[in-house]
Amino acid sequence: MASWSLPEGFYFLFWLYVVVIAIKVSILAVIAFFIKREQEKEEKVTLALMYAFLVDIVCLIVSRICYVAGDFFLTGYDIGLYSYNPAMVVWKLGATVLSAGIVALIFAVDRVVLNNKFKSVFAYAAIVLSILAAAYPVSPGSAGDFTVVATLVMFAQIPIFFLVAVFSWFIAICPGLKRLTVSAFIGILFTILGTMLTAFGFTTPILNNFGQVVLNVYLTFVVSMKIVGYVLVVYSVVNFSRINKALLDYYTSKRICIVHRGRIKGRAFMCANCHVLYCMPCKAAIVEIENKCWNCKQELEHAAVAIDGAPLEAEKPAGTSGGTPVSAVPGGGPGIVEGTGGDPEKEYKGIGKRRDIGP
Ligand SMILES: [Zn+2]
Ligand SMILES: [Zn+2]
Repeated sequence: MASWSLPEGFYFLFWLYVVVIAIKVSILAVIAFFIKREQEKEEKVTLALMYAFLVDIVCLIVSRICYVAGDFFLTGYDIGLYSYNPAMVVWKLGATVLSAGIVALIFAVDRVVLNNKFKSVFAYAAIVLSILAAAYPVSPGSAGDFTVVATLVMFAQIPIFFLVAVFSWFIAICPGLKRLTVSAFIGILFTILGTMLTAFGFTTPILNNFGQVVLNVYLTFVVSMKIVGYVLVVYSVVNFSRINKALLDYYTSKRICIVHRGRIKGRAFMCANCHVLYCMPCKAAIVEIENKCWNCKQELEHAAVAIDGAPLEAEKPAGTSGGTPVSAVPGGGPGIVEGTGGDPEKEYKGIGKRRDIGP
């Protein structure tokens, strides 16, 4: 891999990266515009995802600038030089910032879409591996040390496939969102592939065996794929509010409580305004906290409709029922599942226990 001696063969790639950075900066502007528009609607899920994506784009820009500085100006693409400072520090900074963006996305998706179902374990894994990579001491000139750091960095970025898995799940549960989720799915894959395929392992053999022209054609193709990937992801991100609505429809159709996101087995209550469902303990808790629908912010207590066929009884305030259901709910409840493997279609194990404290 270290056999090549033509760093100038990659000047074309340098200019492609300049274009990519410019496109990412434009994406920042587009997302900021849509965040401003979304803020008026006060949709927590949509906004949280958009902010996370904004953070990720900033991280992508910063890390790409670090990599370009390291690759083209500090090492001239000579693999033997990466272990020397300042190239090593700049390279590590780029890798850490790149992981930070992935971590922000995973936190957002796990917290607001999956209701912390995975306890953000993939984000924490990425954080731990990134810290290990950043802290690992590299002796100048040691190819072995650099390989260790590069391997840790690679593992730190694997959790991005968690996002791919989540979008696959969306495709499965929301057939109406197929175009949106497929575009996000393909977009993420294209950006990952586009980054991977510009690595030494691919570009150096092409340069050595086929020459500059073939390499330039190859790089144009790969970087274009990456740009198409970003465009597809942005298309999905600016339509995130549709994902939120589809999720709500899915919850309603599966009798899933909007608050704790587990299956409702007994009586359910439906918001008269936006038609989301509540289990009895969660409704009691919400009524006591702020008496506003979790989703649409309309008054809940007298507007909710029991949907098991029984007439709606006069609801006593939750505080008078002897229990303290409020404590079970802060921050979105206990999560979709407690050790059931994470499928929201599976029943919520704690529901039997919590029904006891309902009115
Ligand atoms: Zn509502
Ligand atoms: Zn509930």
